[in-house]
Amino acid sequence: MNEIVRKMVSETRLSPEQFVYPLFVCPGEGVKKEISSMPNNYQWSIDLLVEEARSAASLGIGGIILFGIPEEKDDRASGAYDSHGIVQEAVRALKREAPGILLITDVCLCEYTSNGHCGLVSGGEILNDESLPLLAQAALSHAQAGADVVAPSDMMDGRVGAIRALLDKNGYQNIPILSYAVKYASGYYGPFREAAESAPAFGDRRSHQMDPANAREALREAALDIEEGADIIMVKPAGPYLDILRLLRDRYLLPLAAYQVSGEYSALMAAGKLGWLDLPRTMMESLTGIRRAGADIIFTYFAKEAARILG
Ligand SMILES: [Zn+2]
Repeated sequence: MNEIVRKMVSETRLSPEQFVYPLFVCPGEGVKKEISSMPNNYQWSIDLLVEEARSAASLGIGGIILFGIPEEKDDRASGAYDSHGIVQEAVRALKREAPGILLITDVCLCEYTSNGHCGLVSGGEILNDESLPLLAQAALSHAQAGADVVAPSDMMDGRVGAIRALLDKNGYQNIPILSYAVKYASGYYGPFREAAESAPAFGDRRSHQMDPANAREALREAALDIEEGADIIMVKPAGPYLDILRLLRDRYLLPLAAYQVSGEYSALMAAGKLGWLDLPRTMMESLTGIRRAGADIIFTYFAKEAARILG
């Protein structure tokens, strides 16, 4: 009967420090371009990105993850590892002007390749091994610019080891790798591809992302990344894969992250807009479920809204 007792014995708590807020950075100045399928999310130019990061930090949000939209794309994904690329420049600006929030960078090639694939492509096939040096180079360029954590999302085999080796060789032993260890080939990524302008021009990502039907495979993927040196492992998407989070939580001692992806966000936003769901309530319930399943860190587009509610 007693509200205070209910709060006292609540088993799962949320805190803004556990949230990572995804942000998209684009060229230009004074740009704040709304992503139509993800209301309240924008592509930001660096000057405004810095302000948005400061506002997230003032709400107590633990971290941000950066995705870059480069001026130009090419076959070699040059923008991904250019020391003056969009993400590298954004990292420098954020380090200077928005301290106090953890800076995580997404490491992949798909935003930078003209065909939108996560690795180099030849004859319609993604070249796993040939892509590894480029991914490692991208991670190194982020660390050199000042990133606190690098987060490889490509799902190429062996990339965590390749990134770890190159970072160590260059004196970045202390930069942790948060690996997207368990990433499903999911329909829930739809709105993100508009946001990051990274839809594949042909084919799909089923050759390297996981089948939604598989759970044992998740354990195998996680084991490989941990062996190669991952410091934090992530499951993506979050909501439809709570059993996988729980499985990994029970099996491994490493910190665990979950990515509540664009489609999970947009579905709740749309239903809220139509009046079919109570948005604040279902938003908090979705985040609580992800925590309860075992995630220490939650990547979520709701970061600011949820942080405001948690006050
Ligand atoms: Zn990718």
